Amino acid sequence: MNVRILRQRSPFSDPYWEEFFYEDKENQTVAGMLDDLNYKDDLKTIAGESAPRIQWECSCLQGMCGACAMVINHRPALACETFLRDIKGDTVILEPLKKFPTVSDLVVDRSIIQENLKNANTYIEEYSADKSSDFNQMYSAAKCLKCGLCLEVCPNYGKGETFFGAAFANDCYLIASRSLSQKDTIKESYQSHFAKGCSKALSCVDICPMKIPTLTSISRMNR
Ligand code: SF4
Repeated sequence: MNVRILRQRSPFSDPYWEEFFYEDKENQTVAGMLDDLNYKDDLKTIAGESAPRIQWECSCLQGMCGACAMVINHRPALACETFLRDIKGDTVILEPLKKFPTVSDLVVDRSIIQENLKNANTYIEEYSADKSSDFNQMYSAAKCLKCGLCLEVCPNYGKGETFFGAAFANDCYLIASRSLSQKDTIKESYQSHFAKGCSKALSCVDICPMKIPTLTSISRMNR
């Protein structure tokens, strides 16, 4: 199997493509494949040239942390959950998420997701949930990994300057249902940074690795 990777040595250098060969192991994931390639002391491209180890991020390797989010064959996905057997054709194309600044190779800086949550006061001050809260939806919304896949596919999300996207909407719902005293503040943040910009494309729902029913969070917040 050929592996084409869009590489970039630093945030300030130009990106370039590099191609490697990987002996196809059908039960291997993209994350496992990257690990195998990097394991070699002398990583060589398909043309036989030495190449530096491939930079990418991971932590749990079981779809629970979101660190390995990248674009795999033109679709944003988690590398640890994408199996080589599900790749169509004989080439895997890997690119960093494009809505975030590239740090190095497949590593991007997603700190804006957390910064936006902080700046919009989307954190709980005091737990005082409404007795009628929908705990199932709260549990689902709390599964957000902040992986950024929903932002990558969202047609309304640019650089996260005004519209903060689905991850933010889920957190707004979570705070509003956990803390009665914060409902009004959260409502304002939700209006300014989500409701005004969302066109209900709902690509965020399809792509989410945690299958969070974001539409339910949105409809509860709108209500
Ligand atoms: S809502 Fe889903 S896709 Fe978006 S950041 Fe959270 S886990 Fe990732």
